[in-house]
Amino acid sequence: MKKQTIPELFGSMVFDDREMKERLSPEVYQSLRRTIDENVKIEENIAEVVAAEMRRWAVEKGATHYTHWFQPLTGVTAEKHDSFIAPSPDGGIIMDFSGKELIKGEPDASSFPSGGLRATFEARGYTAWDPTSYAFIKDHTLCIPTAFCSYSGEALDKKTPLLRSMQALDRQACRILKLFGHEARYVRTSVGPEQEYFLIDQEMFNQRPDLVYTGRTLFGAMPPKGQELDDHYFGVIKPRVSEFMDDLNRELWKLGILAKTEHNEVAPAQHELAPIYTTTNIATDHNQLTMEIMQKVARRHGMVCLLHEKPFAGVNGSGKHNNWSLSTDTGFNLLAPGDTPYENAQFLLFLCAVIQAVDDYQDLLRLSVATAGNDHRLGANEAPPAIISVFLGDELTSILEAIKNDTPYEGQEKVTMKLGVHSLPRFSRDTTDRNRTSPFAFTGNKFEFRSLGSSNSIACCNMMLNAAVAESLKQYADRLESAGDFESALHELIRETITRHERILFNGNGYGEEWIKEATEVRGLSNLKTTADAMPHLLDRKNVGMLTAHKVFTETELRSRCEIMLENYCKSVNIEGHTMVDMARKNYLPAIEGYLHRLAQTASLMQSVSSQVKCRYEISTLERLSELTDSILEETEALEAALQALGEYDDIIRTSEAVRDAVLPQMEKLRACVDEAEMLVPETCWPFPSYGKLLFSVY
Ligand code: ADP
Ligand code: MG
Repeated sequence: MKKQTIPELFGSMVFDDREMKERLSPEVYQSLRRTIDENVKIEENIAEVVAAEMRRWAVEKGATHYTHWFQPLTGVTAEKHDSFIAPSPDGGIIMDFSGKELIKGEPDASSFPSGGLRATFEARGYTAWDPTSYAFIKDHTLCIPTAFCSYSGEALDKKTPLLRSMQALDRQACRILKLFGHEARYVRTSVGPEQEYFLIDQEMFNQRPDLVYTGRTLFGAMPPKGQELDDHYFGVIKPRVSEFMDDLNRELWKLGILAKTEHNEVAPAQHELAPIYTTTNIATDHNQLTMEIMQKVARRHGMVCLLHEKPFAGVNGSGKHNNWSLSTDTGFNLLAPGDTPYENAQFLLFLCAVIQAVDDYQDLLRLSVATAGNDHRLGANEAPPAIISVFLGDELTSILEAIKNDTPYEGQEKVTMKLGVHSLPRFSRDTTDRNRTSPFAFTGNKFEFRSLGSSNSIACCNMMLNAAVAESLKQYADRLESAGDFESALHELIRETITRHERILFNGNGYGEEWIKEATEVRGLSNLKTTADAMPHLLDRKNVGMLTAHKVFTETELRSRCEIMLENYCKSVNIEGHTMVDMARKNYLPAIEGYLHRLAQTASLMQSVSSQVKCRYEISTLERLSELTDSILEETEALEAALQALGEYDDIIRTSEAVRDAVLPQMEKLRACVDEAEMLVPETCWPFPSYGKLLFSVY
């Protein structure tokens, strides 16, 4: 078969706008477009036609099955395949797929976490087609992006609240635009997520139970070379990795995913992939698919793709940057400084809305990225601190200062900023946006939220961000709609917002100790270090109030989510703890003991030959290793006890605190003893591949 060109390949497995336009009659197409663009409910007869065309297209592409594809709270995507086959009266089969089957599915949902939302006796939930995200074919299966709800209508997934948050933001942003005489059909947020990951050799991976069970190494001494030379960052891509990337890109392009840049990251064996940004719910689907396909393609190349936030201690972990902006149906970016004074005032108002949102809902943003894995990164001087703050860069900050104080802004020329009258001074975009220590940075025409972990679904932070910004905009719209003189009311509103929320603005070094002190003691910002600290804030009155007011969540949904997220945290650490105990008892202790035996035999043999030999190496190593085996045993027993104790709490908050305070510190202690022993035992006697092998064996 002739190799497809990239434009031919791109989106070839997606039932996208091109296919719809070509295959549907103009009336059906228009009606479907209205559903997609304006959230108009789809009519049954239209759904029938769309389903039939979608099936015809899918079968032509070789699909035999279809599935409602959804994002339950487990964090990965779920699918249940049904074949298109239906019996025909003549004893044969026809390929069938109805409008009903397109619109609604009923997976047996009893095993998905629901945090008590769904009693098991009414285990069925249903999935509902999200026509705003295109259907696609993967592994001979037509995948229909859907939302997943319980029968009483509560969201059991990550997509439903995300879509609701986009609607909330759309509603409020359009109110604001109207005040500026700017009519938009809709406002949407878009996201471009930069995804980091590690690639390691599959054989090495298979030899390590910690990687197999938990996705990260729980033991391992540092190799002589780590990332200190920075020679990997943006370095030449190794041939095997490069083949993987080519293959990955083609798979992603087929699914219409705009994979664009790829490069090596800071840590050895670490890489990054960034797509071109798109509408948030589509970007979310695409990011989930990207993570899935990365793992699949890596296996094809004899490698394993690690998406864990901290696969190796001592080298950087992996995160994700959520580049976010909002724009109108005509593509007008509301976070781009404009050309006219009026556009500038509008820009500043949207900028303020984001600043206020991040300040008022720091806790929601922090907890939206909280997982056991990500807790290892935030605040560990390789990723932003757990304290949320906003970076604007010096120029924009001094413009806001000037507005706040009614003082002249000293740019190229000295002007007193009067909104609606003066143009914003032209400021260069990214003079300082390389401040990588900021969790939330303005980068010229978008904000970049950098606290996400590599395995996080981007749905979580975007639903919080959208909702929080919708709330600021709602307050502004309420106030400005009833104002007498729009311009002076606007000026006052912006000034007031800057004054009230400037504590969240910080352009300095987010890694410094001084910042933690200043942020928490002087500015009163929150510093939620772990998932156990952060997650319960989901149920704070102000948060529940805001999220329910904008109809992003019901209170019941929030309670269930809080419980599920904390449960996930406890379960992941629990598995890690048990894996450590297992490895210590079954592998490390016996391996060290074997070497001790050899040392003891050697020493006594040598000394029986000559009384002159000192056996300094044998004896000192034996003494230290013997102490270490005792400590390993002791720490293993203590870890077992801490894990056992978790079973005694019947409250998930207490359990998560015990995980944080007892289990995780005990895991560290055990690890330290084993890692020290690793340095004393010959590699040939050590039961698992070392860090050096894991990190440097892919060429
Ligand atoms: P870096 O942060 O490494 O400098 P880029 O500036 O190239 O990277 O952008 C990173 C991501 O930001 C890309 O996915 C890009 O598509 C996305 N992006 C660019 N403009 C916007 C925008 N207006 N809204 C959302 N994402 C955007
Ligand atoms: Mg970036």
